[in-house]
Amino acid sequence: MTTNTRSQALSRSHYEATAPEVIAQFQSDPKAGLSSTQVSQNQQRYGLNELTVKPGKPAWLRFLLQFNQALLYILIVAGAIKAFLGSWTNAAVIWGVTIINAIIGFVQESKAEGAIAALAKAVTTEATVIRNGQKQRIPSQELVPGDLVLLASGDKVPADLRLITTRNLQIDESALTGESVPVEKLTEPLQPQTPLAERQNMAYAGSFVTFGQGSGIVVATANETEVGKISRSLDQQTDLSTPLTRKFAKFSHTLLYIILALAALTLAVGVGQGQSLAEMFEAAVALAVSAIPEGLPAVVTVTLAIGVNRMARRHAIVRKLPAVETLGSATVICSDKTGTLTENQMTVQAIYAGDQTYSVSGTGYSPDGEIADSTGAIVRVTNARALQECLTAGLACNDSHLEEENDRWLVIGDPTEGALITAANKAGFHLAHISQSLPRIDSIPFESQFQYMATLHDTATEHIIYVKGSVEAILKRCEHTIEKHPLDRQHIEQQVETMAQEGLRVLAFAKKTVSKSQSSIDHHDLDSGLIFLGLQGMIDPPRSEVIAAVQSCQSAGIQVKMITGDHITTAKAIAQRIGLQNAGHATAIDGQQLERMDDRELSQVVENSVVFARVAPAQKFRLVEALQSKGEIVAMTGDGVNDAPALRKADIGIAMGGAGTDVAREAADMLLTDDNFASIEAAVEEGRTVYQNLKKAIAFILPVNGGESMTILISALFARALPILSLQVLWLNMVNSIAMTVPLAFEPKTERVMQHPPRNPREPLLSKTLIYRILVISVFNWILIFGMFEWVRQSTGNLELARTMAIQALVAGRIVYLLSISQLGKTIMAKLRGKQPISFGDTRAILYGIAGAVMLQIVFSQWSVMNTLFKTAPLNLTQWLICLLPAVPMIPVALLANRIDPFD
Ligand code: ADP
Ligand code: MG
Repeated sequence: MTTNTRSQALSRSHYEATAPEVIAQFQSDPKAGLSSTQVSQNQQRYGLNELTVKPGKPAWLRFLLQFNQALLYILIVAGAIKAFLGSWTNAAVIWGVTIINAIIGFVQESKAEGAIAALAKAVTTEATVIRNGQKQRIPSQELVPGDLVLLASGDKVPADLRLITTRNLQIDESALTGESVPVEKLTEPLQPQTPLAERQNMAYAGSFVTFGQGSGIVVATANETEVGKISRSLDQQTDLSTPLTRKFAKFSHTLLYIILALAALTLAVGVGQGQSLAEMFEAAVALAVSAIPEGLPAVVTVTLAIGVNRMARRHAIVRKLPAVETLGSATVICSDKTGTLTENQMTVQAIYAGDQTYSVSGTGYSPDGEIADSTGAIVRVTNARALQECLTAGLACNDSHLEEENDRWLVIGDPTEGALITAANKAGFHLAHISQSLPRIDSIPFESQFQYMATLHDTATEHIIYVKGSVEAILKRCEHTIEKHPLDRQHIEQQVETMAQEGLRVLAFAKKTVSKSQSSIDHHDLDSGLIFLGLQGMIDPPRSEVIAAVQSCQSAGIQVKMITGDHITTAKAIAQRIGLQNAGHATAIDGQQLERMDDRELSQVVENSVVFARVAPAQKFRLVEALQSKGEIVAMTGDGVNDAPALRKADIGIAMGGAGTDVAREAADMLLTDDNFASIEAAVEEGRTVYQNLKKAIAFILPVNGGESMTILISALFARALPILSLQVLWLNMVNSIAMTVPLAFEPKTERVMQHPPRNPREPLLSKTLIYRILVISVFNWILIFGMFEWVRQSTGNLELARTMAIQALVAGRIVYLLSISQLGKTIMAKLRGKQPISFGDTRAILYGIAGAVMLQIVFSQWSVMNTLFKTAPLNLTQWLICLLPAVPMIPVALLANRIDPFD
């Protein structure tokens, strides 16, 4: 039997077999999972759990596709006509240049694709498995058949699993079945021939857990999974197109038609005036190639790719390329509080229990610290029953643990829970005792939606449920205190308010005793009858770099809004500390108030509010919608399962690379590897820089096209000798332009990039001021080419020399112009003015570009081969110096252009 048929035979039976049968079949264990030896054996046998990557389009095809541009068609045809007319050298050069252009395009594109694909790969999904009886997180690729995998809401199912336990488990299988409603999962065996979509006891790779938990045995990995069988291989094509590149494509199409019409007109008028057909054909071709910015597509691709790379270096991984552009025009950033604006380093500082308030000393998760009462006296916890119960609840109702590593205490799990463990440790209670004296029978894990977590424990005489959660969620379920007094809710809420005003995150604790016969818990067990134990308030300090980042956003005209599941008072206090304010004070609103508003009211309120507290995920979606209806471009962070719709709806959905669920990550346009708000600000900065550099590239390339085409059009129509030939135009537009423009993609950000309001996304790429700028420089270039050509021709009568000098003069002017728009020019100016020594650092690319261009120009006129190919003439020293002269008048012209259309 081949591997293939064998595994098919197995998978046919997996959903028909009982869970124990499947476990036995893989020699796994329902509690301990596989052993290390089994894992390595299976790894040998089955390999890594990843789909084979379909080799993309073959290189030769991608190379040929480079020629699939209207412009290149024109060039190829023009070359053919030249060849037909007998100018073979001419034809060869035209074709040669097109091939060089295609090679450059091909190399740049492959590099960009490679870089983006590598980034996407760097984000791996992890799976939770039990091996050797130990729960661990491993990269999904390392899963093997037989592995015992745990699923929780928000996870991406990492392989095909036969489920062995489920608790309200629901899975979204739309990727596999197209059915968008999540499927309820169970463990019972099914009838033979059950169709895939109805196999309730299976969880398939590539689907998402939307609710509940479960566990299952891996029955198929990699290409043997159902999704692997469907697609056989993963399509790893990276799409390099964005709204901007599409706009470019459209722009060049329009341009093309105009140019073809103009070229035809030139041909007709010229021939009508009695000039030779060959000459007029040359003029028409020259005009066509002069007007089209051949170098631009390559520059756009490189600029976007560099932007993506720079963002990655600043902890923002772009998953969808258009986000690079959108980021630059973001007007509102809605950020989670916990972990993104704050450090997610929680420390309990205040406790309220048994109508007493206590303060807790110490920092971080280390157990060093003491609990003192309101007089400042250290408390013996065993003498304060309510306090003891409150701490015990925090310890028992807890899925995390602490580890000490090089004298530093780290939380493995949720920082909120880590803080509770530390607080209990300070009183001398430890997890180890609890698992001995109060063994856990069952639990309901924390989900934002419910805002609480509960655990069921065994004691000699009864079963106890411990619950912890938000004050709202717990208090409404409580009936009396541990001393059997009725609850004074107002008083407790007053305590909460006091803690929250300090910016503390407050959790409430409760318990309930149930009969020994109860062996599992469900949400309805907690509906009422809880005993209130107390409150613990923990500090989660704002990230220090966030304050500056928020300020930078504000000066860049970007509103920052906090969206949190936390209490409104806590949220407001933190907002105040990080400077999130609107007209002096933060306007805050909570989920309940939001719930009561209709869409119209909401869209009015949403603009003025800065803090949104106790927000449910579904409300995040409404917030994005309301902001967008006001014309805002919204960036929104999210980490939970239910955040996915809001992330998709937002113009830029941002998920966390560290915390957060696979579901959110899959829906996002961008990931933050450090979960830090400051990285969003950095990404916006880079996004703005990308856009600015693209504009620089356009502002640099187009005036040369403008100057050239004006020259050719006017000369042809007035029946004068052409100051520049089609081949020479090709040289300028391809070789020279690329050498000098690609470095613009590497331009560092300008100083004031975050001091402008966001760009209006509806504003055309060629804004009015940019068009004026291009016109001014174009006219200057025309005067330069035309003037130099006519002057040299009239004084020497040498056409070739006149053309060569006109071109060299144009390039000399071009270098000055490049400096005027680049950061290098700015650096030089600053140095000249004796300002602080600014390093040339990042601006070096421009220097290399200029050096390269100069060398190419020298070869262009001094090497005899080039003289034959491009009909150029070698220059002597005086002639070279004359060519440099026009650089001087370019200085005021470039400064004027900078005034009309500044780059800062
Ligand atoms: P955020 O991450 O914005 O603070 P969450 O939805 O995570 O919001 O939390 C909302 C509330 O739920 C918190 O204010 C806290 O009271 C409570 N909570 C948070 N984490 C836990 C947890 N692990 N167990 C129980 N309750 C929690
Ligand atoms: Mg949270």
